[in-house]
Amino acid sequence: MKEKLEELKKRLAVVNDLERAAGLLSWDQQTYMPPRGAAARAEQLATLQKLAHEHFIADEIGALLNDLADYAAQLPYDSDEASLIRVTKRDYDRAKRVPPKLVEEMARAASLAFEAWQRAKAESNFKLFQPHLEKNVELRIELANCLGYKDRIYDALLDQYEPQMTTAQVEAIFAPLKQDIVALVQAIARKSDAVNDAVLHREYDVHKQWEFGVQVAKSLGLDFERSRQDKSPHPFTISFSVNDVRITTRLNPKFLPSALFGTIHETGHALYELGYRPELERTPLAGGASLGVHESQSRLWENIVGRSRGFWQFWFPRLREMFPEQLADQTLESFYRAVNKVAPSFIRVEADEVTYGLHIMLRFELENLLVERKLPVADVPDAWNAKMQEYLGIVPPNDALGCLQDVHWSYGDLGYFSTYLLGSMFAAQLYAQAVRDVPTIPEQIARGEFADLLTWLREKVHTHGRKFTLDELARRVTGEPLNARAYVAYLKTKFGEIYGV
Ligand code: ZN
Repeated sequence: MKEKLEELKKRLAVVNDLERAAGLLSWDQQTYMPPRGAAARAEQLATLQKLAHEHFIADEIGALLNDLADYAAQLPYDSDEASLIRVTKRDYDRAKRVPPKLVEEMARAASLAFEAWQRAKAESNFKLFQPHLEKNVELRIELANCLGYKDRIYDALLDQYEPQMTTAQVEAIFAPLKQDIVALVQAIARKSDAVNDAVLHREYDVHKQWEFGVQVAKSLGLDFERSRQDKSPHPFTISFSVNDVRITTRLNPKFLPSALFGTIHETGHALYELGYRPELERTPLAGGASLGVHESQSRLWENIVGRSRGFWQFWFPRLREMFPEQLADQTLESFYRAVNKVAPSFIRVEADEVTYGLHIMLRFELENLLVERKLPVADVPDAWNAKMQEYLGIVPPNDALGCLQDVHWSYGDLGYFSTYLLGSMFAAQLYAQAVRDVPTIPEQIARGEFADLLTWLREKVHTHGRKFTLDELARRVTGEPLNARAYVAYLKTKFGEIYGV
């Protein structure tokens, strides 16, 4: 059996190398490639991805997985070998169920839809995007039918991003959470004058912003011998090996949080990718467990740490040294409140911690209706606006600020959004446990020390790579299934104190 396992690993390493090489081409495309390189790059990427896919779905891999099934069953569930065989089998079965023709059709439709979406958004004209979204929805329904599902069609789509999570599970968590958040938003709205964030919109030199972000990232534990930061229009993190994980950021001279919190967010993703055990390298276990778990890491560092009073106790004097004029009229307290201002807004990516969840629930509910054919695509703008009114009390003046704002539906990424909120919830659940285990963590943060928190996350989450699902991790690390209790308590305590509600 050892020989078969070695043979499986050898084949999977080739797939991994091809995927990482494609990733590097994609990183280059989004950072340094000159614009006219796009056409050739698309071909190169398609070739590498096709090769990786063909190597992975080879019958030899299927046969090895079958031969190894009994062997895996005798091993401890969390051992490297059993996990490798289990997770690879899950990936393999999924990949086998989707006909290559459908993959190709989805890719083509997505690239056409992306072009149309850009125009539709620029002109705020949903009609330009509508036929493409209709096509994307139809193809995702077909995909879900190929993948198969027990209960709800959305389960099949959600499972691509959050393995084994079901729509019913997400609904059961979101429904009470929505009531709590709406109540908090309404209470805060009555005191909206309590926080002024004008300071964030002053002019900040972008070179200094960059320098400050790098200092913060290093202090959080990002090792620049194994990482680097570059600029890109849409910030992202990408990994080529456990010793080469790249992040990007964007700089806005008139909005300080863009680069600052963007850098901390991507640092959270990068620390995760740098933290799995090197033994998992070049296998399907190398990397983050799921989108939700990944987002738990980025949002833990960005919000729970980066927007905490303790964090700014240490960093505010340093920021003021760098920007003495812009921050002359600020105290630690006024700055802490500014970076935590809550106000209903149209754009999800700019939303504060409290209203953010409502933006996600809106998309989750609409996506379900779309794939269940209960909402015609033509009615998306009206449905969107009605939910904005209901949850946030505001209606976007046009579709560019409404249903056309996010890129995901142009790519056909249905099933993706809920992972953002699941990640935020899990971040709070993990942090509460970390403080139970190491009660001095908050004091350390106020001294600018993050090593104990990072060590805890490494040991409990990062080291396992893709071995466990989100829910499995929640149970192992916190003794409870994934739930919103810690998240609601966190929001109520923090924002109740800031706003006096
Ligand atoms: Zn993220």
